[in-house]
Amino acid sequence: MKALILEKICDLLYEKSPLALVEVDDPVAVGAEILIKISCCGVCHTELDEIEGRTPPSEFPMILGHQVVGYVDATGENASRFKKGDRVGVAWIFSACGNCEFCRKGMENLCPEFRGTGRDAGGGYAEYMKVHEKFAYAIPETFSDAEAAPLLCAGAIGYRSLKLTELQQGETLALAGFGASGHLVLKMSRHLFPDSKIIVFARSEEEQAFAKTLGAVWSGNVTDVPPYKADAIIDTTPVWSTIVESLRHLKPSGRLVINAIRKEDKDKSAMLNLNYQDHLWMEKEIKSVANITRYDVEEFLALAANIPIKPEVEIYPFVKANHALLDLKHKHVKGAKVLRF
Ligand SMILES: [Zn+2]
Ligand SMILES: [Zn+2]
Repeated sequence: MKALILEKICDLLYEKSPLALVEVDDPVAVGAEILIKISCCGVCHTELDEIEGRTPPSEFPMILGHQVVGYVDATGENASRFKKGDRVGVAWIFSACGNCEFCRKGMENLCPEFRGTGRDAGGGYAEYMKVHEKFAYAIPETFSDAEAAPLLCAGAIGYRSLKLTELQQGETLALAGFGASGHLVLKMSRHLFPDSKIIVFARSEEEQAFAKTLGAVWSGNVTDVPPYKADAIIDTTPVWSTIVESLRHLKPSGRLVINAIRKEDKDKSAMLNLNYQDHLWMEKEIKSVANITRYDVEEFLALAANIPIKPEVEIYPFVKANHALLDLKHKHVKGAKVLRF
């Protein structure tokens, strides 16, 4: 099959083609695995973290991609959940042990043996991939293949972030960063919390304008002073300065939820500006979001179909994956990027 592989960590400032298009052996589904013929795969900021080594693949070469939509092509001898031709999706959680204290508590996202799709096992930047049938999802009919792809990470992890904010009806929610996840969180929040105001912090004027078209009551830079303080903020940016600035915009007892697998190091010194009295006192809370559970993905797909939430997608042909990644890196963001085969 054709696959795009990452052979080594590199710096995307200098390397313009981090992934190589090669021919590799087709995966074979055994046991309870299913083999998926891939139709679309979303492009996620986590791929940049993998390529640049902030969360490196556990082996090389690696096929990246964890927002996979395709059709069951073959099933292992013990697989019975899906049949050939069924449309399925695969998300960031490729597997978890099922036995540890976290898995038993429904927190398989924190499992010490958590494996990420496209980081610890071959993912969706290829013609085929295989996965255990328990870690695949039926895709609701409402969505096209390309629309479904970003729901599997940007949408589902955005949903987990929103749950962790413990937002109440009528409270003000702020979104810091307005990429693929931010725009989906805005859409789901408008549905779940119609009485809440949503404000958006984004760097580019294009993103700020996009946020307003989707229903944000205010948008601007994180260093601006918005007309409302927030009860909860979700930070999806790769930078540290946003943490400090966001805390300034929180009300007493406000919650800052950081939805980022890694922060980039270049502005880490911004944290030296953290001032206990202005930023943390008054019972403000900070929490990160780590990975995702199957329940988050399943709950979110049902919610998204019910609303329905259709992501704004920008489609790239499979062979233009390097292009899509560089566009994501350099912030030419409008909605979610998806590779199509
Ligand atoms: Zn992702
Ligand atoms: Zn476990």
